[in-house]
Amino acid sequence: MNILVTGGLGFIGSHTTIELIKNNHTVIIADNLINSKIEVLDKLSTLAGIQPTFYQIDVTDEAKLEEVFVNHKIDGVIHFAGLKAVGESVSKPLEYYYNNLVSTMILSKICVKYGVSKFVFSSSATVYGDQPSPLKEDMELKKTTNPYGETKAMSERILTDTSIANPNFAVSLLRYFNPVGAHESGFIGEDPNGIPNNLMPFVTKVAKGQLEKLSVFGNDYDTIDGTGVRDYIHVVDLAKGHVKAIENLKEGVNIYNLGTGKGTSVLELVNAFMKVNDIDVPFDIVGRRPGDIATCFADASKAEKELGWKAELGIDEMVRDAWKFEQNNR
Ligand code: NAD
Ligand code: UDP
Repeated sequence: MNILVTGGLGFIGSHTTIELIKNNHTVIIADNLINSKIEVLDKLSTLAGIQPTFYQIDVTDEAKLEEVFVNHKIDGVIHFAGLKAVGESVSKPLEYYYNNLVSTMILSKICVKYGVSKFVFSSSATVYGDQPSPLKEDMELKKTTNPYGETKAMSERILTDTSIANPNFAVSLLRYFNPVGAHESGFIGEDPNGIPNNLMPFVTKVAKGQLEKLSVFGNDYDTIDGTGVRDYIHVVDLAKGHVKAIENLKEGVNIYNLGTGKGTSVLELVNAFMKVNDIDVPFDIVGRRPGDIATCFADASKAEKELGWKAELGIDEMVRDAWKFEQNNR
């Protein structure tokens, strides 16, 4: 298939591009580089052996986006492009609503116009809100706690309604849990601008000595050791899930959790990082981070049953590859 990957130079999009090329798909990338670097394109060419066609465009720019569909016969779209920093979304809500919703609307409008029948969307476990894990796809969604999460819930509704009105437009809503790790080459990985918000990139920067200490946000949750529990998933497993999702897309709206089904606490993750990589990560226990929930992990059985996809890599591979990338990434 000819697959348009929006946000294809970002963390998850770049890993997915490699897996798509490995599975003989042709990838066309649209990215405005707001949170990625052009160097990733050359790295993708080295890793995949083929240079994907690249458009440096904003997906909210309808005219420029439409040119891509005029130039290529697009069979399917994987829509990663979006802003994703939860804290920033609270201080800049309009930027988040505009970027994440307008991109989804324009892209789906053009897909319908050009008869593109396969659309895979990057959603998030955040749409479940605070309810007991394991989280299942058929649970009722609860209110999200920030504008970023709201853009995911609203995008899901926009795509669902578009699919209902256009039965030829099949959609897969992929709810990611906590993507971490990097390609095993250490060539591409997660490279956030500024001080990381997420746990794993923060840990790698502390290990490297670029940040002094990790703050563990709370040890008084009702969990195995009091720290927050999440379902970390290796980004390469997640990337493979996208290949399965677009290759096996059924008509209508299909929702899948992409997680491992296993919860890991902050301290378990930090201890695994120190042990596997034989390096110290100094940390302090501090107060809870506002908006955090105690536990969040997936019931990942639907993706296994319907897509034949299951996460294969564990915490040890995640911390190993995250550290390898950090060391390579100067
Ligand atoms: P990322 O920031 O690394 O990648 C997103 C890419 O999209 C970047 O390359 C950025 O330059 C590009 N982009 C953003 N807005 C654009 C626009 N209007 N036009 C063109 N390009 C644009 O993020 P990621 O971690 O790879 O996440 C990919 C998607 O998955 C996002 O939609 C994110 O919300 C979602 N998601 C991520 C996580 C996570 O923890 N990483 C969890 C759940 C969902
Ligand atoms: N966390 C932490 N210190 C940090 C960043 C995160 O203790 O500097 C904890 C956070 O409270 C949560 C877990 O690590 O329990 C995962 O947080 P992250 O921001 O990576 O993902 P989230 O699940 O919140 O989207």
